[in-house]
Amino acid sequence: MEIDLSRGSIERVETDPKLTELHLGGLGTNAKILWDRVPPETDPFSPDNLLIFGTGLLCGTPAPGCNRTMLSTLSPQTRLMAFSMMGGFWAPELKYAGYDKVIIRGKSPKLVYLWIHNDKVEIRDASHLRGKGAVETQDILRRELKEPKAQVAAIGLAGENRVYFASIEQGRSSASRQGLGAVMGDKGLKAIAVRGTKDVNVARPAEFMELCNEVMKYIQFREANPVPGVIPILGRLGSPQEMAIHDEKWHTENFMWGNARTRRKDFWTDDIHKAWTATMDSVRTRLISCYNCPIKCGATISVPGHSTYMMKCFSKLTYVMAAFSDLDFGFKIASRATEYGVDGYSTPQVMAFALELYEAGILTDDDFPGMPADTEGRFYWLLDRIVRREGIGDILANGTHWAALAIGKGAEAYAHNNIKKHEQLPLKLSMLNPIYFLMYCTGEKMNITQIEGQFPQAPFPTMEEREAFVKDWFQVPDDRYKQYFLDWEIRGERSNPYYPTVDISVDIVDWQEKMHYIDDALGLCAGLSSFHLKPPYHIHNIPKLIAAGAGIDMDEAKLTQITKRNRTLVRAVNIGRGLRRADEKPPEDHWKKRFPELEEKLLDAYYKFKGWDPDGIPTKETLAELGLSYVAKDFEAKGIIKNG
Ligand code: SF4
Repeated sequence: MEIDLSRGSIERVETDPKLTELHLGGLGTNAKILWDRVPPETDPFSPDNLLIFGTGLLCGTPAPGCNRTMLSTLSPQTRLMAFSMMGGFWAPELKYAGYDKVIIRGKSPKLVYLWIHNDKVEIRDASHLRGKGAVETQDILRRELKEPKAQVAAIGLAGENRVYFASIEQGRSSASRQGLGAVMGDKGLKAIAVRGTKDVNVARPAEFMELCNEVMKYIQFREANPVPGVIPILGRLGSPQEMAIHDEKWHTENFMWGNARTRRKDFWTDDIHKAWTATMDSVRTRLISCYNCPIKCGATISVPGHSTYMMKCFSKLTYVMAAFSDLDFGFKIASRATEYGVDGYSTPQVMAFALELYEAGILTDDDFPGMPADTEGRFYWLLDRIVRREGIGDILANGTHWAALAIGKGAEAYAHNNIKKHEQLPLKLSMLNPIYFLMYCTGEKMNITQIEGQFPQAPFPTMEEREAFVKDWFQVPDDRYKQYFLDWEIRGERSNPYYPTVDISVDIVDWQEKMHYIDDALGLCAGLSSFHLKPPYHIHNIPKLIAAGAGIDMDEAKLTQITKRNRTLVRAVNIGRGLRRADEKPPEDHWKKRFPELEEKLLDAYYKFKGWDPDGIPTKETLAELGLSYVAKDFEAKGIIKNG
């Protein structure tokens, strides 16, 4: 569905089956549409920028956990292609209404929302929703439309005010990274409400159901048999099981506090464990799932005096650790932040960054008139100003990279946790890990949790444990990955940073990345697939699901080729916008021990493996092989590709 908010037009266009064969759905076709229609010089806040809500190819079918909406646009923060996804229930609902994508262009002169009810689609006035919370808006619209089953994706005040890290909230999920909410707000679009009651047809139902049942059986098996030897949040399936577990020793002692600078190695005591368990149990009303998923890795959180919201994953701790506070504070401020609609990873870092600048004297009392004396009070104070773009909040609302540039006076050194202008997980580690180095540098998603997975994060101590791990590791595309893991040692010659070797590191990264690109095209949750060790979805069963579900002839080689095409097209959009090798680096202090020569070799080998030149630009030959000669032609005309 094509919506032009400048003209107020609504147009239905058939999905092109040829494009589906070439790119599947979700991220793949989103990237193609962005490439075709948004010129590289477009400003993210131009009416010509598109905001695409794309369902995955298999959303709405009985495939367990296949519920992702891929949102794509140009990011105001990174100025590159942003793609963030949300789980919940929105994508299946859109499919039941009869649509694969909603493509928004233009800007509405007044605040509006979209109401999609099967064939009936309306652009409606949303002036009464101005300033309303993102969760509140979902409730208001469901009541107003008298459709309790409508699924609503909405922005809060942050999106309306174009905060660069504004999210789009929906049900138990959100699309948070890279400022999609800011683009939605810039377009004057407060929400999209959807209700669909049509059928989604699959090509070969009996075969498809059989495959889905196998996935379900394996989910049950994995739930009953967590992977031994890995931290509890990764041992089970789902987005990290933060809402189910009480033991936070690993995060609180290994991740960094404040503005990602302080490690508290002995933080987790018995007293803290008891206190945090009591807090968690008192506010977690119930564990909840996204559409058609039995995992329940999110939770409804109700703190007395605060609005009820849904939470999952590491946002449970981001505010807590940024403010050196406790879990109770984390749940309270996350309630307000969810209503405002902001990214739970970037926002706490931006506020901790501001307070560090204040302590360093770079920002002064004049910048914080009336700010409370206690840290928690300061976090609330800053959050309120950021989402309203008031005073210093207006500068901070652009994220740490742009804020540091605007503030100057050495503030740049405090925005030390960014890649490609985007805040990363607050991690500072010791020895360079070659696999993670590559993923951090080259990932286009700007979010390590949405690039990693499949291969363990660290070697297992004993050969016995490694052998036990690889024994039932049928998800590997090839047995060589088992050998890579068996050979990986904690110390000595076969340990980081020189093992995995350069070539092996590239091979492992390629596998992990491939699986994420597959999920993002199909709408599969990474928590059941690419993010996890030994997941129910893998390269061997996914082609069968595509074939039986969508009736597209598919095998592993063909799927690999499509994934490569999608990954290269995303890269091409970013190359067109100026991305080059020089941008592909981790935060300087991410690892204490760095190896510049090795790092250059890793990047060289990765680019070569991908068929890109030493600057990270896909070559003419690679583009031709992937059916992307039109990209090569464009790059040649612009002088980006010279002599092939
Ligand atoms: S694993 Fe968790 S995030 Fe993924 S679909 Fe299931 S409930 Fe949602």
